[in-house]
Amino acid sequence: MIYKRSSQLFSEAQKVIPGGVNSPVRAFKAVGGDPIFVEKAKGAYLFDVDGNRLIDYINSWGPMILGHAHEPVVKAVIDKAEKGTSFGMPTAIETDIAAMAVRMVPNIDKIRFVNSGTEACMSAVRLARGFTRKDKIIKFAGCYHGHSDSFLIEAGSGAVTFGVPNSPGVTEGTAKDTLLATYNDLKSVAQLIAENVDEIACVIIEPVAGNMGCIPPTEGFLEGLRKLCDENEILLIFDEVMTGFRLAKGGVQELYRVNADIVTFGKVIGGGLPVGAFAAREEIMNHLAPLGPVYQAGTLSGNPLAMAAGLAMLTELNENSKIFESLAAKTEYLHKGITKVLSENNVIHTVNRVGSMISVHFSETPVTDFKTAALANNDTFKKFFHGMLAEGVYIAPSAFETWFLCDALTYDDLDQTILACKKVASNL
Ligand SMILES: *Cc1c(COP(=O)(O)O)cnc(C)c1O
Repeated sequence: MIYKRSSQLFSEAQKVIPGGVNSPVRAFKAVGGDPIFVEKAKGAYLFDVDGNRLIDYINSWGPMILGHAHEPVVKAVIDKAEKGTSFGMPTAIETDIAAMAVRMVPNIDKIRFVNSGTEACMSAVRLARGFTRKDKIIKFAGCYHGHSDSFLIEAGSGAVTFGVPNSPGVTEGTAKDTLLATYNDLKSVAQLIAENVDEIACVIIEPVAGNMGCIPPTEGFLEGLRKLCDENEILLIFDEVMTGFRLAKGGVQELYRVNADIVTFGKVIGGGLPVGAFAAREEIMNHLAPLGPVYQAGTLSGNPLAMAAGLAMLTELNENSKIFESLAAKTEYLHKGITKVLSENNVIHTVNRVGSMISVHFSETPVTDFKTAALANNDTFKKFFHGMLAEGVYIAPSAFETWFLCDALTYDDLDQTILACKKVASNL
């Protein structure tokens, strides 16, 4: 494949944008080479500026669960745009999407919309602190909750890909209020709670982790967290920015039957426009301004274009819940195919999967937390990434990211992907 135009555009971008990208995970720093510039996308395919067609397993890092340029979403945005793109005043569509989200997701009464997953998580933690009147939070190593200060402590995703899980610029004062636990290890949480009696406002977690590759919760882990939180008057926040409206209509709360106190959303809920949201039962949400004392605001929050895209997306998912089964079946098929060809070529690997989230780790040990994720062979991953790309398959340019399937993928696309994997495996 030729990437001439992409490389040209990248060198122009680097002159005026730090690193040439507006979000670090888009750069190919972890795998080498220049990032690919997209011209357009449709369904399961990306078309780059050099005219290459790629089967897309990133799907904008999750939002495009039904494929790119999905007709009802595009139409909803165009129709809305013609009526004005922002007012800073209430619009009826905000209530429509809020009501739909509250219907689809268990255990929430009210929801507030923001502009990104980062903002959702940041606001959720402020709300938890305001509600409990406690300061400290517990997060898990390798989990990513956006780039706000409190979360850049052993963070996953781009933060770990680029070796800066603890970012300069985060003050010691902020960092000391973020306590770090180990994913899938209840004892580590219990110990932090015991050491900080009556100081912990909330535990925030990716209930199925997706930012250190895909790591499912082990049996009893989420239930155990629920119990620890209840016993110690701590709020449990499920960061469902990645998993919400992807693993099930009601997300992980529905899938694993564990209730959270506050849930955050992003990605799918915006249908590809910049949207985040956080939700909880009434008693908690009523602490927010203008009803309560916890301040939170946004000039473009609930933006009509964003709400139109999100509502169109949620409507599609709500009306056709078979989508989740269909996606899970496709992902299982891919899992089996990849495992088969890698094993036949004696490539040491572990594949993790939940629903339409899947990750391939070049690792001998099971990947259950950040430490075991970090043990994987990064050189093998680099070769694998570039090999797949040369075969027209686009996966995330980092071993610490999950692949997201979209329902526009056909079994023929999956077979092509497995075949590509087979060719690449023979050279690993
Ligand atoms: C992507 C992501 C975020 C951050 O969302 P942005 O929209 O990028 O700010 C937060 N939490 C999780 C679990 C995510 O995957």
